Amino acid sequence: MSSNQQYSFFQSVEKSFDKAAKFTKWDLGILEQIKACNSVYQMRFPVKRDDGSIEVIEAYRVQHSQHKSPCKGGIRFSDEVNQDEVMALASLMTYKCAIVNVPFGGGKGGIKINPRNYSTYELEKITRRYTAELVKKNFIGPGIDVPAPDYGTGPREMAWIVDTYASLKPGEIDAAGCVTGKPITQGGVRGRTEATGLGVFFGIREVCNMEDVMKKLGLSTGIQGKTVVVQGIGNVGYHSAKFFRENGAKVICISEHDGAVYNVNGLHEDELIAFRKQTGSIINAPGTTLLAKKEDALELECDILIPAALENVINGENAPRIKAKIIGEAANGPCTPEADEIFNQRGILCVPDMYLNAGGVTVSYFEWLKNLSHVRYGRMEKRFTENLNTHILGQIEGLTGKRVNDQERAFIMHGPDEQDLVHSGLEETMITATREIMEIWKENPAIPDMRTAAYVNAINKVATSYAELGIFP
Ligand code: NAD
Repeated sequence: MSSNQQYSFFQSVEKSFDKAAKFTKWDLGILEQIKACNSVYQMRFPVKRDDGSIEVIEAYRVQHSQHKSPCKGGIRFSDEVNQDEVMALASLMTYKCAIVNVPFGGGKGGIKINPRNYSTYELEKITRRYTAELVKKNFIGPGIDVPAPDYGTGPREMAWIVDTYASLKPGEIDAAGCVTGKPITQGGVRGRTEATGLGVFFGIREVCNMEDVMKKLGLSTGIQGKTVVVQGIGNVGYHSAKFFRENGAKVICISEHDGAVYNVNGLHEDELIAFRKQTGSIINAPGTTLLAKKEDALELECDILIPAALENVINGENAPRIKAKIIGEAANGPCTPEADEIFNQRGILCVPDMYLNAGGVTVSYFEWLKNLSHVRYGRMEKRFTENLNTHILGQIEGLTGKRVNDQERAFIMHGPDEQDLVHSGLEETMITATREIMEIWKENPAIPDMRTAAYVNAINKVATSYAELGIFP
């Protein structure tokens, strides 16, 4: 998983941290404390397979930082899982949460299995046993450490976790807040599915609204009319494409694992998905041209390139041929450090993954708050707002003698439901995070790129927290 083969994944995170730390004034000891993983729990437990054999499972939970509680981070099921990877991912979670002002420390979990090799019953047993091990060592809980989905896990696994936790902690009123990414019926929140793609859109839109930044890139402000290329039409790519198109951009190319399709007038992501449902692929979808190679998509002339599939797809080899003005890292680690250097020289703006794809963890925070408050967002105020809006509109119409049209009426009267509020909270989060990072970059032009500016922002926030807490004697 390392983006730089000389270093382990955790070491390369430390390297990026050190590069940014040079632009801060914090005491070396505080910086060392921030970098370290505070607690690493490595476990082994037996599981009886469906054929009666016993298998020993290797699993981890890492709590990188408790400068805020609880810790937060997904659980990954993959046969690539190892301690170094979980430590690296846990530290990235600390920095990601700090950047988007989500008041959690970083955590991450992993179980070294390929979920495809196990039956649903076996997966349930493994997940429940893992949860029980976390409970035994006090490594999970709404105020301690709150996992979420990651590679190979989803709402189903989160439902098993909350059920196991609640049954081992009878009477714990906040038990639902021990994990996020749950199905709605189990305490999940509306708006989680599209959160990461929507966050990508909000972040890039904010960058595009910055006049000075756009001027440097030779672009006009705003999203309207911008050309966009998206790599990967999975959860993140699909929703990114959807929000860009709905807001006036032209998504001219979408690439998938088996090919890339193009239309200079713009593609519609739903039409491609419907076509893929019928045929198994987006290739040859009506009104599209197939590119010679799927990788060519990355090198097309466009304003915004959104890699939303895999890591390391833009590297020292192809970065010199990238023609996009802005790269929005929707995936984790799509650009290598070599690519970063080339973008700096060529004046291409790379908006970093660490905050741009933080929509998932931001909405996880909203889910946790919902669980602690025991009430659905919007339940208390929706009807009140609608009644008030009806009254105000009635007064205005009465005084002016004019009537607004039905579409405007519906918009004005509408009181916010859970999804509206979650989207609005995410919008606020991404706008604020973008502005904070850009401000740091502007204040110190020696900072080479936006990724480093994002790290500086994270370091400053975590260090301030440690400094203000005081170090325990
Ligand atoms: P996903 O599995 O839903 O989608 C990935 C898509 O990429 C699939 O459709 C796949 O066919 C396609 N793909 C695979 N290889 C490709 C290739 N060579 N060229 C073009 N397309 C290819 O996964 P996702 O949840 O959308 O995640 C995508 C990326 O975003 C990952 O890096 C993930 O870590 C990151 N991410 C996801 C979330 C989230 O909330 N889902 C949050 C943060 C970061």
